[in-house]
Amino acid sequence: MRRTMRVHLNSSDHICRHFQKQPNMNNPSEVVFRVAVGVVVVTWFAVRGHFQKKVGSSKKISSHHGRREKRSYMLVSVSFLPILLYVFTSPFSFAHIAIPSWLRWAGLISGLSASGLFAWTHFALGRNWSGLLEIAKDHELVTGGPYRFVRHPMYSAFFLMGIGVLLLSSNWLVGGLNLAAVTAMYLVRVADEEAMMLGHFGQSYQTYMDHTGRVFPRLRT
Ligand code: SAH
Repeated sequence: MRRTMRVHLNSSDHICRHFQKQPNMNNPSEVVFRVAVGVVVVTWFAVRGHFQKKVGSSKKISSHHGRREKRSYMLVSVSFLPILLYVFTSPFSFAHIAIPSWLRWAGLISGLSASGLFAWTHFALGRNWSGLLEIAKDHELVTGGPYRFVRHPMYSAFFLMGIGVLLLSSNWLVGGLNLAAVTAMYLVRVADEEAMMLGHFGQSYQTYMDHTGRVFPRLRT
C-alpha cells in the first residue's frame, strides 16, 4: 500500500514539474533555454547585419513599397524586442506555456535552421536582395539554391524562426507576437512582390512560379 502511494506522489510531482504555470528559474535548463533564445536571435541579426553591409547599398532602379509594407516591416523588427527582454528579464512569466522540454529543444533546432536558411537565402540573392520591395540595377532572377524549391524561402525562414522562438521560450506572448508580425508582413507583401517580379521579368517569372511553391516546396512540379 505504502509503495503504491509513493509511486503516485512521484508521478504527480513529475506531472507538476512538466506542466507548471510559471517558468521555474531555479531549474538550470530554464536558464539554458533563455541563453539559447539569445543565441538564436543574435545569429539571425548577425546574418542580416553581414549581408546588409555587403549588398544593402546596391543601386535600385525602382521601388514598389507602400506605407503598409514599410509598417509591416517595422512591426517585425519591433516584435524582436520582447524576445530580447525575455532573455534578460522575466516580465512575461504570466504568458508561460508548460510544454515538455523535448519540444523546447525542437525549438532550438527550428531557430538554428531558420538562421541557416536565412543566411542561405541572402547568399543566393546576393546583390539582388533588398529589405523592401525594390528592383536593383541589372537585377537577375535567382532560381538556384533555396529558390529552386520555393519562391519565398526567406519568409519560410522568418516563420521557422517564429516557431523556434515560440517553442524555445515556451511563452505565447514572446513567440506569438513575432509570429503574428511575420504573418502580417507576409500577407501584406507576398502578392505585391510577385506582381513586381512578374512586371519586371514577365514570362520567366511566370514559368518559375509554375514550378515552385510559395513558402513550402511543391510536391509535384
Ligand atoms: N521573397 C523572397 C525575397 C525576400 S527579399 C524570399 O522570401 O526569399 C525581397 C527582395 O528580393 C525583393 O525586393 C525582390 O527584389 C527580391 N527577390 C525576390 N525573389 C527574387 C528572385 N527569385 N530573384 C531575384 N530577386 C528576388
